[in-house]
Amino acid sequence: MPLGRPVNEASGARALREHFRRRHGREPRFAHAPGRVNLIGEHTDYNDGFALPVAIDLWTSVAFAPREEARWLVRSESFAIGVEGAPGDQVELRPDEGPRVHWSDYPTGVLRMLLETGVRVPGATLEFASDVPAGAGLSSSAALEVATANALLALAGEERDGAEIALLCQRAENEFVGMRCGIMDQLVSCLGRAGEAMLLDCRTRAVRFVPLPTGVDLVIVSSMVRHALAAGEYNARRSECEEAARILAEEAGRDASRPPSLRDATLADVEHSRSRMTDRVFRRARHVVTENERVLETVEALAVGDLERVGGAMARSHASLRDDFEVSCRELDSLVEIASSEPGVVGARMTGGGFGGCTVNLVRSASTRSFCEAVCERQAAATGQAPDLWVTSAVSGARVE
Ligand code: ADP
Ligand code: MG
Repeated sequence: MPLGRPVNEASGARALREHFRRRHGREPRFAHAPGRVNLIGEHTDYNDGFALPVAIDLWTSVAFAPREEARWLVRSESFAIGVEGAPGDQVELRPDEGPRVHWSDYPTGVLRMLLETGVRVPGATLEFASDVPAGAGLSSSAALEVATANALLALAGEERDGAEIALLCQRAENEFVGMRCGIMDQLVSCLGRAGEAMLLDCRTRAVRFVPLPTGVDLVIVSSMVRHALAAGEYNARRSECEEAARILAEEAGRDASRPPSLRDATLADVEHSRSRMTDRVFRRARHVVTENERVLETVEALAVGDLERVGGAMARSHASLRDDFEVSCRELDSLVEIASSEPGVVGARMTGGGFGGCTVNLVRSASTRSFCEAVCERQAAATGQAPDLWVTSAVSGARVE
């Protein structure tokens, strides 16, 4: 039975030590940072809401050693689709210059933020390898940033806590790379815990860890599509949410000292103000407020081991993203439909911003193999392309060796 790709394809990380020794004639140290998947809570981050991400067993590793001179030379050997520049080219980071629209913008941004905050980062050689697929929605960018930050801090002989590193990496992506991402990806890559999901309150950045059920695998399946429209659509959704929040705050007579936010609204509020909104804005708001409720419901259900309820919340989340928020696509809907009819599946939904990317599936371990085979075969029949998939589990966050 053809699987789209071998499950957990061996990463280039193992070869990294050898490469580094051969190229630089010395023993490197290592920093590792995981990718992530969001179990539930989509498009809630920029609405001050809740999300439930998990750090997964896919890693970006960097081998590093100091240099005599104050230069930072980087190379990325193994990565998947969507990476600009030829693999294996050595690049010099120039933190005093602007972004180059190149993968090295991520490490450059991190270096720049560290230097700006007064960390004295010595010159260094860094070599990256990763088995986090780039551009698939599993946050290879955060893994790259967090691995870089940990390596550069280790070189400088400084320690920072995970939350601080996450904020610095988010700033690098927001301000240097120019990508308006929230804090979720970096935070869970830094703080993730083995066997647990991380409930994140995006308003306060408070986190709480929630044990995942044992005997259940996290299976991530790629839709194999990445829509070119995604950035424009993302910005449109943000504006629509802002509009809904403004209307709801007005209706509630909320004081203007705090920016209006859908976090403060209930479903009853949204329904009450329906006549003041376009149908589209109403549905966007309905998605966000019900999605926040579904995150909290999932956390409660996990706490009491009610997996049926977890699956129900995931199914409703997918339907809401498809119908109210309109960020799904044919390939994602097909994957969720197929998964939902397979035995041993606890829950399935699209994950990430949408318009492509992946689905996240909770699958009882005894059924994982047959699940993977069935999804590959049935999705290939439905769309003409067998999907890549990864069987993963919740791991602890970034570390330095
Ligand atoms: P995602 O974070 O969902 O994987 P992004 O578009 O945010 O997608 O980030 C992907 C980009 O991050 C790639 O195009 C590349 O520039 C950079 N990147 C990620 N991983 C690596 C890596 N191992 N080596 C070099 N660049 C990488
Ligand atoms: Mg990213």
